Amino acid sequence: MFVSAHGRGLYWAMSHETPFPYRLPLASVLSLNAFLPAAGPALPSLLDLPQRRLVTSGRIAIAMALRAMGVGPGHEVLAPAYHSRSMIPPILWLGAAPVFFRVRPDTSVDLDDLAGRIGPATRAVMVTHYFGIPQDLRALRALCDRHGLQLLEDCAHCLFGAQGGQPVGASGDYAAGSLMKFLPLYEGGCLVSARHALAGPTPRGGGAGFEAKAALAVLEASFASGRLPWLRALLRLPLGLKDRIWNRVKRADAPALAPPSSDSSYDFDPAWIDVRAARFSRMLTALLPRTRVVARRRAHYLHYQQHLSGLPGCRPLYPALPDGACPWVFPLLVDDPEPMFARLAAAGVPMTRFGDTLWDGVDASVCPTSAHLSRHVLSFPCHDALRPDELAWIVKQVAGSLA
Ligand SMILES: *Cc1c(COP(=O)(O)O)cnc(C)c1O
Repeated sequence: MFVSAHGRGLYWAMSHETPFPYRLPLASVLSLNAFLPAAGPALPSLLDLPQRRLVTSGRIAIAMALRAMGVGPGHEVLAPAYHSRSMIPPILWLGAAPVFFRVRPDTSVDLDDLAGRIGPATRAVMVTHYFGIPQDLRALRALCDRHGLQLLEDCAHCLFGAQGGQPVGASGDYAAGSLMKFLPLYEGGCLVSARHALAGPTPRGGGAGFEAKAALAVLEASFASGRLPWLRALLRLPLGLKDRIWNRVKRADAPALAPPSSDSSYDFDPAWIDVRAARFSRMLTALLPRTRVVARRRAHYLHYQQHLSGLPGCRPLYPALPDGACPWVFPLLVDDPEPMFARLAAAGVPMTRFGDTLWDGVDASVCPTSAHLSRHVLSFPCHDALRPDELAWIVKQVAGSLA
């Protein structure tokens, strides 16, 4: 079975008008600086939890978590009405049905609404920590315990952090993370648990073609953003080396070299269940200093907050950045988003519109807040690889687009 969905809400430069001779990186890209240690808060990470499996994407980790919970045909899984479309196919893959609960304007769970949707078929609850801001899950955990439900923390936006003394991922029975959203990787997710041993088959390798692609794609993304120019020049010397490797690996592994999650798609391909993250991704995950990632993401987020707060027609989605948070992006709530989006896209500003296409049938009648947020939040990158001149230029474009 192949469950399909389209358009991942990611927007890159569509213009050659930027002052940069390359595409501004929407997500982190590799540079030598990424290996430099940095002082900063050492936030807890999903990657520190005792039970951990590195797989190829967050959605695969969600599917494996639901499978571990015993979710199957006839069951219902409660999922937030404000979501990524990639969260839902794993539920369908197991034969279960999603039931959507409301979120509040501050993106917290509407507990009363959620409680009202619990029925005899409900097996599990999926909760999302949006944009890297950890949710306080104490009340939800207690509600799940009262009803005998399992809790899955969707930490795709929240690889690091803590709330109310609890590290992210530790309140849920299981948690799923997306390494690609935080590290300069082409693929990678993690399934973790602080409460259960991870059963199921030992993950297998994804094949030689996949391993090669996972490494080459990271270098390509890096080159496309003007990083590692010396390496790019070096690799160009052995004429067409990359193309030759490509042609070899493509022939070797004809079907699917990499999961659809790696190519800006919401698709879910169960062929990648129980497949290990690529060796290159696991190596970078182990080598890259995490304090640098956290410190720089926080600093970039605060830079946006400082320069974009108080402008007319918009406000930061969150009033402040909590101490225990490592942001995924900087979400800005915009009164009239379409003209601003069009102007910024034309200028080449990298943006994300999280949740811009909600699951079929999820509209304002299901949750007015989710319908509103899915249209009115524009998010800007705050990843570690952004340079000061790039960040300053994005801020200037955003402020200018409101004028
Ligand atoms: C991206 C995302 C996922 C899925 O992560 P992938 O690594 O892309 O599979 C799950 N939940 C949320 C909220 C996401 O934004």
